[in-house]
Order: sequence, then structure tokens, then C-alpha cells
Amino acid sequence: MECLFCEIINGSIPSECIYEDELVYAFNDIDKQAPIHFLIVPKEHIKSADELSEKHKELIGHIFLVAKNLCGKFGLENGYRIVNNCKEDGGQTVNHLHFHVLGGRSLNWPPG
Ligand code: AMP
Ligand code: ZN
Repeated sequence: MECLFCEIINGSIPSECIYEDELVYAFNDIDKQAPIHFLIVPKEHIKSADELSEKHKELIGHIFLVAKNLCGKFGLENGYRIVNNCKEDGGQTVNHLHFHVLGGRSLNWPPG
């Protein structure tokens, strides 16, 4: 079966792109949980954070810098949250590594 986020990255499924470079694609979540809620995904198909290895160190650092820069662009100087849901118990529903970035309201902790 094709991967939903690979299809979003290659454009066969439409999305609201907010940023793209050679390594990552960022787009608005279809079911926003906060006024700002977007996803950053690597263009490489990696199933989950549990599949990461040494060779991904630069990619993961890059994703966090992209998140920080986009949050700056969106004016989230009061703060934001970066979330990765990993595999079944982590609540992952799309099996292509992605980081949620949420902001624009005060967020609760701990999660349910
Ligand atoms: P997770 O539960 O961490 O795997 O997150 C998957 C996220 O993908 C959810 O927040 C969904 O709302 C989001 N999502 C699913 N389909 C789409 C889509 N076509 N476009 C944008 N976001 C989507
Ligand atoms: Zn994929």
C-alpha cells in the first residue's frame, strides 16, 4: 500500500504546504488541534522514530531548526510544542515519521 505522506510529498494527494527543501516537507495538519498545527516530515520514507539510526542525526537536527524557524515566522514567541508519536502505544496513525508542531494557545500537560 502507498504511504499517505509519501503521496503528499510527491503531490498526488493535495496539502497546504508551508515549507519545503531537499530534506523535508511541512504542511498544515488536516485536523488542527491548535490555531497553528503543522507537520514536518522527512522526504525519505522512515516508518517511525524507532527506525532512526546514526545516519539520520543531521536530518533530525535539521527538522528541529526548520520547526524553530517556522514558529518564528508564525509569531509563536510565547512558545510551542514539537511532538512525535512513535508506533502504536505512542499514538502514531501514519507510518511515515513526522513531527507535529503546535502553537497559538496554551497547551495542556501531561497528554492523555
Ligand atoms: P499521528 O497520529 O501522530 O500519526 O499523526 C497523523 C496526523 O496526520 C494527524 O494529526 C492527522 O490529522 C494528520 N493527517 C492525516 N491525513 C492528513 C492529510 N491528508 N493532510 C494533512 N494531515 C493529515
Ligand atoms: Zn512514506
